[in-house]
Amino acid sequence: MEETNTAASSPCIFCNIAAGTTPAEIVFDGGDTLFFHDISPKARVHVIGIPKQHVESLGKIRADHHSMIGKLLHDLAHVAKDLGVDEGGYRVVTNVGADAGQEVEHLHFHLLAGEPLGPLNAGRAG
Ligand code: 5GP
Ligand code: ZN
Repeated sequence: MEETNTAASSPCIFCNIAAGTTPAEIVFDGGDTLFFHDISPKARVHVIGIPKQHVESLGKIRADHHSMIGKLLHDLAHVAKDLGVDEGGYRVVTNVGADAGQEVEHLHFHLLAGEPLGPLNAGRAG
């Protein structure tokens, strides 16, 4: 998918949330970034952070995206602080492609926090 998605025609749910045509519980609007609560939270705090620009995944990042990625992660750290989870700690995850279980093909970082998150077991039990 190219970076030319428009609100009117986009099949991308996160582009639609960025455009305001699909509702979401917004946590922070960073201008070129947006943070909102995950519709199906996997932790007590589960926020999704996106660039408003459509990029499919971290795997599709180009050199001209570098400042966008830096801004997105910087905003994410501020959101964690605003939510009061920075001292307790938090986890940041991005899924790329099928093996990682990426469902929404618009680059996003999961901010997970608010309780002990357990080991990063990559889906393997034990
Ligand atoms: P992925 O598996 O692609 O890394 O994560 C996609 C995340 O987006 C999932 O945790 C899912 O619950 C969340 N999600 C999917 N559709 C919506 C939506 O319409 N609104 C919100 N707020 N979250 C969504
Ligand atoms: Zn999109």
